[in-house]
Amino acid sequence: MAYPHLTINLDKIEHNASTIVGLCQKHAIAVTGVTKGVCGFPAVAEAMLRGGVISIGDSRFENIKRLQAAKVETEIMQLRLPPLSGVDETVTLADVSLNSELPVLEALSEAASRRGQVHDVMIMVDLGDLREGIMPGDLHGFIGSAIKLAGIRIVGLGANLACFAGIVPSEDNMTQFVELATAIEDAYGLSLRWLSGANSSGLDLIAAGRMPERINHARIGEAILLGRETVHRSPLPGTAQDAFVLHAEVLELKTKPSIPVGERTQDAFGKRAIFIDRGKRLRALLNIGREDVDVEGLMPVDPRVTVLWGSSGYLAVDVADLSGSLRVGDKLSFVPNYGAILTAMTSEYVKKRPLRGGAAPDS
Ligand SMILES: *Cc1c(COP(=O)(O)O)cnc(C)c1O
Repeated sequence: MAYPHLTINLDKIEHNASTIVGLCQKHAIAVTGVTKGVCGFPAVAEAMLRGGVISIGDSRFENIKRLQAAKVETEIMQLRLPPLSGVDETVTLADVSLNSELPVLEALSEAASRRGQVHDVMIMVDLGDLREGIMPGDLHGFIGSAIKLAGIRIVGLGANLACFAGIVPSEDNMTQFVELATAIEDAYGLSLRWLSGANSSGLDLIAAGRMPERINHARIGEAILLGRETVHRSPLPGTAQDAFVLHAEVLELKTKPSIPVGERTQDAFGKRAIFIDRGKRLRALLNIGREDVDVEGLMPVDPRVTVLWGSSGYLAVDVADLSGSLRVGDKLSFVPNYGAILTAMTSEYVKKRPLRGGAAPDS
């Protein structure tokens, strides 16, 4: 296997999914597994499905196509708002999409009707995180217009928190969400099948038994991939935090001053890295860089290794505490955070190595 590569422990992902599905089930909440963090990697979707998620959500057409090309048998939820220019793809690729714009709903309705279909939609409500969604005060009018469209069916309301502004899901905003839904149902004689109130940031509230009862759906990505809720990023009981491990090779190993020599300007990315003078230190250059991974999101597996900086093609790490035991050509491993997984999965230079039952099915 070439380096750098990312190992993906499918058993751990399945286990994490099953733990989280179990937790949510106790509170009558169904879980859609979200694969956008792994670019719709089909084996990850399959692991989530074995773990009990009811469907798969992803944000990009390319990822959904990847899932379908691999014959992953499940319903697909399109998470990112459909573009007006892509309504045909949405109605053909997704079983349900999340929406917040009337012109798009009109176009989805037409696209679905042309195919003799009815396309399911969830309407997104903005509870204060200021990402996608209709402001609560505008919801009534919006639903009043959307409900007239023959080619779509409103199957629920959704809310997304802790994504853009980092607003934490609370009993308050979740109760407000339920009240909005109830008011809509009463006003339009609708029966909303899904109140999709949570992503990974809602798991604490769910575990504490404080999620209002009517909320019956969650869209979970990071917590399944990394075993952490996303408010405090604390490990979730009974889950693994190291399903993904990035491995890179030592290209250069030299003792060098820990602060640069000579007049300093910006680096290749227009930034100035901070150097701390620790005297001369043993330093390794690895064959992975900013072009491949969000280097700030890498946690060395060996606590004696410290990440220093990254250029487009190199990662510099302090390995003074490994003097004598590390050689050129050796490999170092890192546990990536969500942003680092996302970037590494997107980089074609990082090979992906799924592992199952302790073995690699396609190494
Ligand atoms: C990415 C995304 C999710 C999943 O969020 P996690 O924090 O990874 O659980 C859920 N809903 C929507 C709309 C998303 O875009």
